[in-house]
Amino acid sequence: MKILIKNKDINEALKNVSDLGFVPTMGCLHKGHEYLIKQSKKKCNQTLVSIFINPTQFNNKKDYLSYPKNLKKDLNILKKLKVNYVYIPNKKDIYSFKRKKAIVLKKENKILCAKFRKGHFEGVIDVMDRLTNIIKPNKIFMGEKDYQQLLLVKKFIEKKNKTKIISCKTVRNKNRLALSSRNQLLNKRDLIKAGKIAKELFQFKIFLKNSKKTKKLLQKKIELLKEKFDIKIDYLEIRKKNSLKPSLNIKNSKIFIAYFINSVRLIDNF
Ligand code: AMP
Repeated sequence: MKILIKNKDINEALKNVSDLGFVPTMGCLHKGHEYLIKQSKKKCNQTLVSIFINPTQFNNKKDYLSYPKNLKKDLNILKKLKVNYVYIPNKKDIYSFKRKKAIVLKKENKILCAKFRKGHFEGVIDVMDRLTNIIKPNKIFMGEKDYQQLLLVKKFIEKKNKTKIISCKTVRNKNRLALSSRNQLLNKRDLIKAGKIAKELFQFKIFLKNSKKTKKLLQKKIELLKEKFDIKIDYLEIRKKNSLKPSLNIKNSKIFIAYFINSVRLIDNF
């Protein structure tokens, strides 16, 4: 496994690689990341994983500084998975050039996390554009766990490049809680609580299949979750799978949630 730090190391290492799979991460790796890496290894000759906590996608400095890190453990996981390359860039290299055109989200895209985390997706798209230009992968593997991110990045990157974005299912723990690096910031009790919320929303989705009063039920569910679990909810919405347009019917749609347990913000979709 080669560890690459500088952009010129990347150019040198990848000059003869023709079928490269890329898994971008912010580190603190878990089985969700591992699944993406296994998909890349299955579908591509070589796999590169990046570890970079991108400062520009955090709308809150405290959140950026408290983002969990564990590089030593990450490298052990990547070695075991027999990843070919790990790219650990520094901020300076990634942001060495100014972009010609600022990333601006269309009004219709300022929904869900884009509404509640100002500048977040602009930062994500910018860094994904930069990483794609540096690495020039054939395929990029991304998780449905971050569904809105997946759709926005896919649209932007595939329009400009030959690179294909491959979406991968959400990996969950035995309580059906979506794995996330941020789960590390929760204590045992809150992890159980987050699992119960996931279970409740899976059941809610089944319930919605036989109901026409979606809007009313959704409002009731928000109130119930707040009261039962003592959480702050940014949003609980049903939107179309493909377009993320609001939906009054669960068919071809997903439930999206973002909520806080204490100061830890979790997102999921069902
Ligand atoms: P992150 O390190 O959180 O920025 O995530 C890096 C990539 O892993 C993104 O494409 C995420 O969507 C994906 N990912 C994170 N958690 C999971 C999960 N539980 N299952 C599948 N993919 C995930």
